[in-house]
Formats: sequence, C-alpha cells, structure tokens
Amino acid sequence: MLVVMQSHATEEEVARVLEAIKRMELTPHPMPGATRTAIGITGNVGAVDPRTLEVLPGVMELIRVTKPYKLASREMHEDDTYVEIPNAKIQDPNSKNQKAGTIIGPKNFTLIAGPCSVENEEMISRTAEFLKARGVNLMRAGAFKPRTSPYAFQGLGRAGLDILARVRERTGIGIVTELMDTDNADAVEEVADIIQIGTRNMQNFSLLRRVAKSGKPVLLKRGMSATLEEWLMAAEYVMAGGNYRVILCERGVRTFSDHSRNTLDLSVIPPVKHLSHLPILVDPSHGTGKRDYVPSMSLASLAAGADGLLIEVHPEPNQALSDGAQSLDFAAFDQLLQSLRRLAEPLKRVIN
Ligand code: PEP
Ligand code: MN
Repeated sequence: MLVVMQSHATEEEVARVLEAIKRMELTPHPMPGATRTAIGITGNVGAVDPRTLEVLPGVMELIRVTKPYKLASREMHEDDTYVEIPNAKIQDPNSKNQKAGTIIGPKNFTLIAGPCSVENEEMISRTAEFLKARGVNLMRAGAFKPRTSPYAFQGLGRAGLDILARVRERTGIGIVTELMDTDNADAVEEVADIIQIGTRNMQNFSLLRRVAKSGKPVLLKRGMSATLEEWLMAAEYVMAGGNYRVILCERGVRTFSDHSRNTLDLSVIPPVKHLSHLPILVDPSHGTGKRDYVPSMSLASLAAGADGLLIEVHPEPNQALSDGAQSLDFAAFDQLLQSLRRLAEPLKRVIN
C-alpha cells in the first residue's frame, strides 16, 4: 500500500500517518518527493485496511501496490532512484567545499572497473592510479572470492581488505568489493563504498538482511538463474530492512548457449526500467567470459539504457589469478572508454 500525501501536507500530518502505520504493527517508509511525500507500507501479509489511514488529515489517496515487490517497484516510487556514492577521500560529509561524489542513475553512465581479485598491493595501486587518471572513480576488486573449485585462488580475505583500505586512503578511489558471508560484514562495510552481493548469493536471505542494516549502498548481482521477479524480491529484502540504496547488476544467466560463459541478458534492461526505479549496471565481463566480446556488449549496454558498467580490468590479464580471460588490459580499456564517450554524447549520457 502507498499513502500519497497532499502537496500541502504538513510535517506533523506526515508524522501522524507514520505513527498510525506503526500502531497497525506495519512499517512505514517515507519517500519525500519534489511535490509531495508518499509513504510506502510494508510488513502486511494480507491487504491493509485503508480506512484508518484515508481519514487522516493531509492524506490525498491510498494506492494498492499490486506487485509482490513493493519498495523496489515503480508503482510505489515513480521517479528514478539516483544512488550517490560520496567521494572516498572526504571524511566529513558536512564539509562545505567537498566535491560531490559519483551519482549512479539514468542521466549518467557510471564505470566501475578493476581486477576480479585483489592479488597484491602493487597491482591494486597501479589499477587505481590508472583509473583515477581517466576519471573513473570507482574500482572493483574482490578480497573474498566465490570460486567453483575449492582448489582455486580464494582471494586474500582480510589481508585483501587491508590493501583496498590503504589504496582507497592513498588515491581517493571508491571501492566496490564482495561480501560473501555475514561473518565478514563489519570488515567489508568499513572498506567498501559499495558492497557487492554476488550472483551465488542473490537469495542468501541472511546476507540480504544483514546488508539491509548497512549504511553502504548494495550492488545486487542477478542470480545466474533468477527471474526478474526473484531479483527484485531480493532487492526488496534489502530495502524492506531500511537500505534503499540498491543498484542492480545484470551479469549473465545460464542458458544452453556454449559460445560464451553466460548469456548476457540485455533484454532485461527495459523491463527493469519499466517495473522498478532502481539503477541497473551491466557486467559484460562475467556476461561473456571473453575479453574480445566485452567492448561490443559494453556499448550495447549503454545503448540499451543501462546506468553503467562493472567491468574487469587487470594490468596483466594473462597473469591474473582469476578471470584473466575476460579481463581487459589497460590499453583495451582506454579504447573502450573512447568508444563509450563517443556513443554517450548523442545519447545525452554523462560518463562518470
Ligand atoms: C565477480 O564480480 O568477480 C564475481 C564473482 O561475479 P559473479 O557473482 O557475477 O559471478
Ligand atoms: Mn570475476
């Protein structure tokens, strides 16, 4: 259920509606808008009886949200969500002369690039400096790696997080890194500017409930066999717990196809935009599994309306400890950046 307040409703009237919702043992989610406040209601198993709310002063109307995901739906939140990632270097968020961070959402096209894994400090530093010099402000790199084989490189774990923290501090680059289990949540949260939830954990509900309590935005990768509804329901877990800063990421799904590692489902972008207000990035690296295919699928993602890319870049892809075959080297990333800039201009998108 969505309570739409009148445009002239006072703060007290909004507060009274919030109280009334709590008295019904439901959870209110206030969403201030440009002209009026709306209040989403979650926590009900059956339909909410609208009568107690619609008579309250300042209430314009009550709208039933028909989708099973509520907070993630465009029915509940008509405007696109922009997720702001504060600049990593800025310690004081109230400082007046701070430079705004990166804003992820439809007018922009945000690049998050970096190696699959943190391997050592030198390669992380080199990558961060390379990216910063090109205006890319967010670096991806996994300290905890979900690997199919228990014998494959599992990531450096906490030592990898320490490397990311030092490079973040030194260069000011924002960090996107994966959280695999609740045990490491505090440690990952401290270093990450965006917490990545991997494809294998899209429906790890205890993990989703944990990141719902985090103050950091969540990059939620699509499960490799998840429907759009299942994916948005996973986003709903995070939002229902109070973290509204969710960024979706399409990374390819399992099909019969054997020409690529996964089938990058770019056809999911328009329905995501139709059904949800959340931003969506595309990961063409895991989506294809082959570096030669990454540039064309990156350009296609921009053309199809994605809000950015999560892309694997490594100083020496052929020496990489994980996912080297799908990682671009610096020269290939430079070339791709040029092509993206050319395409972004007529599409009126700003690469950030
Ligand atoms: C990754 O980003 O390196 C990764 C493991 O991704 P996914 O969860 O999509 O496989
Ligand atoms: Mn990878």
